[in-house]
Amino acid sequence: RWTLVPVPDDALYLFSAREHRVVAQRRARLFVECWQKLETGDLDAVVSRLTERGLSAAEGYFTFEELRRKGYVVAGGDPPSPAELFLAALAPVAERPVIPQPAARPPDGAACELLLVGDIDADAIAAAAGSQSLRIRFIANTRAVEAADAPLVVLTDDYLRPALGAIDRRMRSLGRPWLLAQPVGGIAWFGPVFGSARDKPGGCWHCLAQRLVRNREVEWHVARSLGCEMPLVPARGWTPESLAFCLAEIAGMLAALRGSRKDGRDDLAHVTTIDFADGSRQHHHLVRRPQCPACGDGGRRSLAPRPIRLHPTSKRFTADGGHRIHDPEETWRRWRHHVSPVTGAVSFLQRIDDAHGGPGRATGAAFAPDANGTGCDDVMPGPAADAGPVPVHNYVAGENFAVHRPGLAGLKAGLRSKSAGKGM
Ligand SMILES: [Zn+2]
Repeated sequence: RWTLVPVPDDALYLFSAREHRVVAQRRARLFVECWQKLETGDLDAVVSRLTERGLSAAEGYFTFEELRRKGYVVAGGDPPSPAELFLAALAPVAERPVIPQPAARPPDGAACELLLVGDIDADAIAAAAGSQSLRIRFIANTRAVEAADAPLVVLTDDYLRPALGAIDRRMRSLGRPWLLAQPVGGIAWFGPVFGSARDKPGGCWHCLAQRLVRNREVEWHVARSLGCEMPLVPARGWTPESLAFCLAEIAGMLAALRGSRKDGRDDLAHVTTIDFADGSRQHHHLVRRPQCPACGDGGRRSLAPRPIRLHPTSKRFTADGGHRIHDPEETWRRWRHHVSPVTGAVSFLQRIDDAHGGPGRATGAAFAPDANGTGCDDVMPGPAADAGPVPVHNYVAGENFAVHRPGLAGLKAGLRSKSAGKGM
């Protein structure tokens, strides 16, 4: 269940599908460093190495026992199977997976080209596609991709695989749309379809990656500490049933894309995440970044901010004690596509409900595309229905990514720095 990453002179970081933990003790970090270097799983040999690094044998055995009791390490045994990894990813919240119905019914006999990136089992994908009557053709590598009207489907075990950057460049040079999906792990990811809109340029993979990295702050911190350009990828599992669902979902998306392109709409410019713990779906808008070095004007990044010019204007909303030129709901609708734990500049908005004792009653919000894909059909997270009049509107809004300091202490300081504000 856990991926253990010791960072020299810092701490031991533990990653799972749903949470991250840190063990700050030096002996725990040294134990895992030695354990991973030896690769034999021989406890006595690990303890012997630890004594060379200043720990006593008793400390070595005690540290192993501590880590084992918490489920962070196991002695011996075979590597976990994909199904065991899949169930382990659900284990904190669900005993068995909930496989939902695909959003759109996949057409019989649909066909597509597939490119695999990362640790994806081609035989298992072929079997899953066969079970859904989806005809597939594997493309060997990025250079072998040819120009075509039909989207290329790229399956990966992590949306931040650096190889996806090269695929993005290749696909934009060919002018061919491509659908990215992660069919493995306890939470599957689908979309967006890059390059699907003919009349207006959408965001590219680099636009998406910039937001994803910022929302994987702990993994990014560890990657930077180890000199890696992207977060580490933990092993992700699957079952034949979960893969069959993912292939059916992809076939349905391709059919929906054909329909939306006929209408001239671009309603697949978002990432859909499906959590197999409860079968729930969430949509996360992809924002095109004008300053993106790949698809936008990279020179914009070095431009100085334009000065703010104040000018008189009439107030249109004064009902809550503040004076605004826009209704709060209008401001929310205008910017809410930037709120997402996956693709948002703001990872979440939570209301601190004073009347009911703090953030326990907070209301989150997720992007939900409407029929036009604009996502403006939701409402601002407001007070609980039974809260009565609330004198002060308090919100917290995710981590403050402006704060970056090295080391575990710096990471903790950054995580504490949440953005917050109030309206009277
Ligand atoms: Zn871009």
